[in-house]
Amino acid sequence: MRETSSAANATLYQIIPSEICFSCDVCCRFLEADSPLAPIFTEVETERVKAYGADPTLFRPQTDGKSAQIQLKSHKDFYICPFFEPETSHCTIYPIRPLDCQLYPFALMFNEDGNEVVLGVDTLCPFGEAHLETEAFQRHIRQVIDYVESETVTAQIAANWSLIGDYQDTVKIVHTLVQLTDATPTLNT
Ligand code: SF4
Repeated sequence: MRETSSAANATLYQIIPSEICFSCDVCCRFLEADSPLAPIFTEVETERVKAYGADPTLFRPQTDGKSAQIQLKSHKDFYICPFFEPETSHCTIYPIRPLDCQLYPFALMFNEDGNEVVLGVDTLCPFGEAHLETEAFQRHIRQVIDYVESETVTAQIAANWSLIGDYQDTVKIVHTLVQLTDATPTLNT
């Protein structure tokens, strides 16, 4: 499904066809109730989703003092995002889902040494894993880099730096985000 982002003036496209996402069982589902991979909403995104009617108690404040992580809910023998509709595999807030979700299967994280912010592709996403080396996906990677490195988006992420996750070896690093590394408060104190 192709979607225009509201996060900035630049445009972020989802390269994965929606029919593939709807038939997959990776996204929006988590193994632990307090999974660190649960989506993080920036301050603006949190207010937008609350205004849409979301329960304010679902948002757990993060250490950056701005962003919030969503409280997952139990479903069968795993946990799901409360905005996920398991019967249809649809996101009920799709047009206003957070940047964290818009980016997926891309992930923002610190490198293994913890001294740089990098962009990676989550190899747990079957489409990302299978198409990573294709010309179309490599072209898409460059577009996502341009998007994340735009001044507006870099500033937005730096202000909500809890969006930047810990290093995961299942995420293949595709780019070092130099400007974001310079703008991230925890790396420059
Ligand atoms: S906000 Fe939507 S896309 Fe993001 S994890 Fe929840 S259901 Fe999935």
